[in-house]
Parts: sequence; C-alpha cells; structure tokens
Amino acid sequence: MTTPLLKLSGLGIRFGGLVALDAVDLTVAPSTITCIIGPNGAGKSTLFNLITGIYRPTSGTVALQGDPITGLPAHRIAARGIARTFQSSRLFEDLSILDNVIIGMHGRTRTDVLTALLRPAKSRRELEACAAEAETILRGISDELFARRYQPAGILPQADRRRLEIARALASHPKLILLDEPSSGMDDRDTAALMADIRRVMADNPGLSFLIIEHDMRLVAELPDNVVVIDYGKKIAEGDFATVRQLPRVQQAYLGQ
Ligand code: ADP
Ligand code: MG
Repeated sequence: MTTPLLKLSGLGIRFGGLVALDAVDLTVAPSTITCIIGPNGAGKSTLFNLITGIYRPTSGTVALQGDPITGLPAHRIAARGIARTFQSSRLFEDLSILDNVIIGMHGRTRTDVLTALLRPAKSRRELEACAAEAETILRGISDELFARRYQPAGILPQADRRRLEIARALASHPKLILLDEPSSGMDDRDTAALMADIRRVMADNPGLSFLIIEHDMRLVAELPDNVVVIDYGKKIAEGDFATVRQLPRVQQAYLGQ
C-alpha cells in the first residue's frame, strides 16, 4: 500500500471533563475526497483544529505522508501542506480579491508577504511574481473572480466568498485542503457549482485531496470517495455513502430516520 496522505491514529482531545474527540482513526489517500458528517457538537470542527495544529491533542498522532506532525504549531503544519477554510468566512474584507489570494502564499514565501503588501517598493519583484501566480489561481477557479480581482473581497456574495477561500487555500500549494461546511448558506445552484469547483481543482492539482465537513446530503451523496460519520466525538461509521446511510446507528444519530 502507498503511504497515506494523512493518517490519524487514536486522535483525541478533552476540554476539562468533556471528551470532545475520542480515539479517532482515519486515513486519507492522495487524490481523494472524504466527507465528514455528524450532528452539531459531534466534534467535527474540533477534528480540523487538531489536524491543523490549532488544538494540541491529548492523545493520538497525526501523520502527513508518513511524517509525524502531531502538536506542531499551526503555521508549521500549514507550511507542510495542509490548508483549510473555516465554518464562518474569514476573508480580509477591505483587501482586494487578488490580495486575499496572495495572503494565502504567506508561509511559503521567504519574505513576508504582508510586509510586502504594506511596503510594495521593498519587494516589488517578489510581489509581482506572487500576483501573477494569484491571477493564474483565480482564473482556474472562476473567470468572474479573476475579472473582479481588484475589487474588495467584502462585496462578494456567499458562493464567491467560498470560491475565493478555496483559491486562497490553493495559494499555499497544499497537499490537503480541509473545508468546514463549505455549502452553508448556499442554494442548490451554488452547491452544484461548489461541487464542480472542487472536481475541477482536483483535476488541475494531481495528488491533492479534500477533507470536507458537510451537512448537505446531496453533496455527500455525490462528491466523496469516502464518508466518515462522527457522533459524540467518536467515529461511528465509514465507507461509501450508499453503505453508510443504511447503518442503523447512522440513521439514528444523524439522518433522523
Ligand atoms: P461540530 O463541529 O461537530 O459541530 P465542535 O467540534 O465544534 O462540533 O464541538 C465539539 C464539542 O467540543 C462541543 O461540545 C464543543 O462545545 C466542544 N468544544 C470545542 N472547542 C472547545 C473549546 N476550545 N473549549 C471547550 N469546549 C470546546
Ligand atoms: Mg463545526
């Protein structure tokens, strides 16, 4: 078997008396999409916070391409190739769409991109190279975002904000992108477009995988190679959606049937 892209072994965290995540094992292969489903408060976002180094696990390990990354600070994990979006949008509203993508390169460039943005004369050439790459990334995501690249990110509707967040994640050259409830606030058309975006990004970036927390069952039924169900901090099921949805524990815990 090839080395998994991401491997979680016995991963857990407690907050005081609350076991928010309990001994989760999970493997993500390269070039795959995994969806994580589960009720509110199940521990899904906590899992992302453990993978990305925002929280330190109280038990277990995280490995990226076989290398342990457990407990590393968030910026080092990001530099190793794990990018994410958050449940609530975190764009720099007053900065341009293009600058929001350039900020995603922070961490892999040697000079500080934020400083460069504030003092462009200092590192103009690097900034220009970043801008050219950011334009390519934007064009790959959406012609419309590219056309509007000098406009402030704050004016974008929800679906385009999500697109821009994915573009910003791509700017870090990740091996794995984590999306936390990307379809929230989207209608059917936007959700269909989101799925098409994700498929296109996968096709354009060989080896890249997605780990997606999702509540929209149309997306979960169509998009992933693997579905993982979390309830009360535990992984209770895993497999393809058609199989997973039949399990009585899943129907009780989540599908409400
Ligand atoms: P989900 O994303 O599945 O809705 P979360 O991962 O956000 O759920 O939360 C799982 C549980 O962990 C919840 O009970 C939540 O209140 C708790 N939790 C998450 N982060 C913290 C924290 N920093 N301190 C205390 N409790 C937390
Ligand atoms: Mg959450």
